[in-house]
Amino acid sequence: MSFYFQNGYLYCDQLKVKDIQSQVPESPFYLYSKQQITTNYNAYLEAIEGLNAIIGYAIKANNNLAILKHLQELGSSAVLVSGNELCIALKANFKPEKTILNGNGKTIAELTYAIQNQVLINIDSEFDLQHIQQATEKAKKQANVLLRVNPDIDPQVHPYVSTGIKDSKFGIQNNKLDWFLDSIKSSTFLNLVGIHCHLGSTIEQTQIFYDATVLMSKFVEIIRSRGFELKYLNIGGGLGIDYHKQGKNLPTPLELINSIRQILESLDISLIIEPGRSIIGNTSILVNRVIGTKSNGKKNFAVVDGSMAELIRPSLYNAYHHIDLIEPCRGQLKTFDIVGPVCESADFLAKDRPLASPIEGMGLAVWDVGAYCQVMSSNYNLKMRPPEYWVDGKQLIQIRKKECMEDYLKLFNI
Ligand SMILES: *Cc1c(COP(=O)(O)O)cnc(C)c1O
Repeated sequence: MSFYFQNGYLYCDQLKVKDIQSQVPESPFYLYSKQQITTNYNAYLEAIEGLNAIIGYAIKANNNLAILKHLQELGSSAVLVSGNELCIALKANFKPEKTILNGNGKTIAELTYAIQNQVLINIDSEFDLQHIQQATEKAKKQANVLLRVNPDIDPQVHPYVSTGIKDSKFGIQNNKLDWFLDSIKSSTFLNLVGIHCHLGSTIEQTQIFYDATVLMSKFVEIIRSRGFELKYLNIGGGLGIDYHKQGKNLPTPLELINSIRQILESLDISLIIEPGRSIIGNTSILVNRVIGTKSNGKKNFAVVDGSMAELIRPSLYNAYHHIDLIEPCRGQLKTFDIVGPVCESADFLAKDRPLASPIEGMGLAVWDVGAYCQVMSSNYNLKMRPPEYWVDGKQLIQIRKKECMEDYLKLFNI
C-alpha cells in the first residue's frame, strides 16, 4: 500500500505527508500516489489475461486530466456519462472506438458528438433508442450500440448506488426486448454489438457479478439466435474497496474475473468491464488542518478546514472514510466528530471516532478519497475546489490548481 505509517508519521510512498503539508501553500488538498494508480490498473490487466477484454475506466469517479492521461498510457479505455466527459477523454487520448457512453438521459447533442467520434453507446430506453437514431441521421454515420438490460439483482449496497434492481431508473424493460431488437434490425444506422448491465457500486461479493453474468449469458443467446452478431458482454463496474480497514477480505479483480471466466469463454465473447472506484478510490487522501477543538459537554468536535464542499460522501451517503492524524500526538484520547466550517449540520467528515485530542494546525487525513470526492466538490459557502497533488517516485507534483475567487467571479457579467 502506498499510504502507511512509520514512527507515528503518515507516508505517501517515499514522502512524509507532514513534510508535504509544510510545503503545500493550500489547505485542504488532495494527495495521490501515482504508483498506487498503476498498481490498481495492473491488477485488472493481469486479471483479464487470456481473455479478449476492454478495461474501461469510469471517468466519473475522478476526471483529473493527469490521472486520465496516466491511465490511458497504461492501456486503459474510458467509460463516459456525458458529452463533456467525452471531450476530456479525447484530450487524454483515449481511443473513442473503445470508449463507452452510458446514461439514462443523453441529449441529442451529446449523442451526435459521440457518434461522430464512433464511441460505443448504451441504449437505456425506448426514447434513448429514438434519440440515438436521430443523432445518427444528424451525424450521417452508423452507431455501434449495446443494450442496457436490467438484471434485477440486488447488489446489497446503499440504495443511492444501487442501479440494477427492478425499480432503478437505468436500463430497458426486459420484456420489451423484442421491440428493441426489431427497431434495431429495421434501422440501417444502428449496429448492435453487445449488451450491458451495471449493478451498482461498492459491491463486496463476486457471487453478485457471477449471477449477473449468468443472466446476461441467457440474453446473449436469445439475441444471437435472432441473427445479431454480439461481440461484447459488458458487466459494468462496481467492485468495492476496503473503506473500513478492519481486515475484511474484499474480492480482487482477479477473483472477480475468474468467477466469470468460463462463461465468457463458452460464449466466445469479449468482455467489457467498467471499474471506477476500485481503480482510483484508495489512491488518494484529503489532507486537512485542524482549526480547533470544542465540546458541548457531551460531544467533542474537531473542526477542520475541509468540509462537505470538498468531500460530500459522508454527508450524502453516510459513507465511512477512515481518518488519522498525520503525525504523532500526545493529546488525550477522546471520541470526536470531525466536522468542517460549512453552515449545515450535515457537514461532517466522520462521526464518533477515537482520536488523540489534536493541537491546532495539526494535519488530519481522510483516507480513500480518490473516487467520487473531488469530482463531487462544490462551491457551497464559496469554498473553492481544492488543489490536487501526486507523489511520483520521490517527487511531489501539483496536478490541479486550486480554484480561486477570480475563476468564480469570471462567470458574472459585472
Ligand atoms: C458509475 C458507473 C461505473 C463505475 O462504477 P464503480 O463503482 O466506480 O466501479 C461503471 N459503469 C456505469 C454504467 C456506471 O454508472
